[in-house]
This record gives sequence, C-alpha cells and structure tokens, in this order.
Amino acid sequence: EERGGGGEEYLFKIVLIGDSAVGKSNLLSRFARNEFDSNSKATIGVEFQTQVVDIDGKEVKAQIWDTAGQERFRAVTSAYYRGAVGALVVYDITRRSSFDSVKRWLEELTTHCDTAVGRMLVGNKCDLDSIRDVSTEEGKSLAEEEGLFFMETSALDSTNVEAAFEVVIREIYSNIS
Ligand code: GDP
Ligand code: MG
Repeated sequence: EERGGGGEEYLFKIVLIGDSAVGKSNLLSRFARNEFDSNSKATIGVEFQTQVVDIDGKEVKAQIWDTAGQERFRAVTSAYYRGAVGALVVYDITRRSSFDSVKRWLEELTTHCDTAVGRMLVGNKCDLDSIRDVSTEEGKSLAEEEGLFFMETSALDSTNVEAAFEVVIREIYSNIS
C-alpha cells in the first residue's frame, strides 16, 4: 500500500499442468524471459517465476508454477496446487495422448482447488501444424464442454503465449474486482 499512486498490488498463483513434454516449461520461459530451449530437460530447482503484468493500470504479479517433472510419475503434490487461482492445462497438438489426458488433469485440479480457478486449455506446438494430431475444433469443443478458455500456442515461435497467460490473469482479476 506504500506504492506511489496508491494502487493495490495483486499476486496470483497460476499453475501449469499437463503431460510431460507438452511444452509447459518452455511456455513459462517464453512468457517470463522470452526464451526457448529446444533441449529442455525436466526443470530443476525453479519452482515458479514471477511476471508483472499491467491490467487496467493495476500491477498484477503472476506467480507461475512449473512442475519439476513430477507429472511423469503422476506425483504432482497438493502443495503445487495450494493457493492457485489460475491454471493452464496444456496438451501437445501433435500428440493425441496428451489431449486425452486433459480430463484427468482437470479432475486433479478440481480435487485440489475447490475455489473458482481461472482455467485455460492450451494446445501447444501449433507451429507443428503439418504433423498435427488434434484439430483446433476438437480443442475448442472440449474447452466449451468443460467451461474453459481455449487457445493454441507455440512456445517456439511465440504465438499466443502472452495472450494465453493474460486471458487467465484478466479472468482472475475480474473475478476479484
Ligand atoms: P514440459 O515437459 O511440459 O515442461 O515440456 P518442455 O517445455 O520441456 O518441452 C518438451 C519438448 O518440446 C522440448 O524439446 C521443447 O523444445 C519442445 N517444445 C516445447 N514447446 C514447443 C513448441 O511450441 N513448438 C515446438 N515445435 N516444440 C516445442
Ligand atoms: Mg517441464
């Protein structure tokens, strides 16, 4: 409350979930640092990154949590979800199995977060359209069915990365203001 202009500060915890290798860590590094890593290994050490976003003149800190590869063992802990007010559920448009897993990730999210969490379905790797395995329409209709926002993104070429995070952040913001 000591900040110039008297604006409040907001801190939103947002979690990234979805199968291993769908591009969660790269979506985060693209959003937070404008970086992409084609050889990314499982994230080690970094629990979350904070990115400041301006929403209607208010400073919003988005604290975005990335799994440290635990999703491979279906062992994402409840601590990961604790306090989350937003989630990006990510699949890979070239790998149908990752799309089929979305419902399971949504169930897990519902189990751990009882509040109204801003949720976005993200079909990542849209730069790989030539080897696409899940159509945009399928993504859209699943999102409609589940009441989620939907976007296709590419962490590689930056398509919709900022937009996807911002839609979730705006949704959370509008829920509390
Ligand atoms: P995570 O396990 O969900 O965190 O996935 P990673 O971010 O580690 O990415 C897994 C692999 O997919 C890596 O080889 C990335 O370089 C690659 N990758 C991630 N996002 C994209 C994308 O948007 N397009 C393409 N072509 N490859 C991507
Ligand atoms: Mg990762």
